[in-house]
Amino acid sequence: MTNFDEQLEELVTANRILAREGVVDAFGHVSIRHPEHPDRYILSQSRAPDLVNVSDLMEYTLEGDPLDQQGRTMYSERPIHGGIYEARDDVLAIVHNHSATVVPFTVTDTPLRPMFHLGALIGPELPVWDIRDNFQDTSMLVATMDQGRDLARCLGDCRVALMRGHGCVITGKSIREVVMASIYLQVNAGLLLESLRLGDVKYMTPGEIELMSEGQMRPTAQERAWEYWANRAGRRKDGDKNA
Ligand code: MN
Repeated sequence: MTNFDEQLEELVTANRILAREGVVDAFGHVSIRHPEHPDRYILSQSRAPDLVNVSDLMEYTLEGDPLDQQGRTMYSERPIHGGIYEARDDVLAIVHNHSATVVPFTVTDTPLRPMFHLGALIGPELPVWDIRDNFQDTSMLVATMDQGRDLARCLGDCRVALMRGHGCVITGKSIREVVMASIYLQVNAGLLLESLRLGDVKYMTPGEIELMSEGQMRPTAQERAWEYWANRAGRRKDGDKNA
């Protein structure tokens, strides 16, 4: 397998892991920037992530136009991916999901920030994007490039942006990193909901967040977590299907 083929297999594994860990269901998606053409990204055709195979993966321009559609249906929220890849050269992978554990923090003033050590990876600040601010009443879906670019502006240099009444978007420098951040965003949100019922919450300090997230990005930590999640999702580490 070429390096490109391996990345496609890894993107399939990412789809399956996010489904297995309950971060996505019928909806939600994960993309990578094309490793050889930085002005393109790779995203499945419109399909539940748990069912995605390599043959579902499609190449898109940053504007969201397919290079070879082959009659396949497409996710309507492609502008989430294009808008962010266009604005952020450093971003190589993106997850969008509707985690029910995260949504309460998108509609209230209670901030979602790291308070659990493995939540450090989500970053110290999570801006909340409200589509209504600039687009009035909509279907709530990020369906145009104007909307995707507006979301990217709100994200700024952060790793995660929350989306009011909708979900969130998580960015990273690799598939593995973005999957880890997506899983621990949900875990941290759940622990925060529980903690808020008990009393005042002590959040991690900016220094703790920096030190812990450095540790989480180390290849040994990434490798260990990926092997665990890939195995749970029925995908061997080498990307073999149905292993
Ligand atoms: Mn959505």
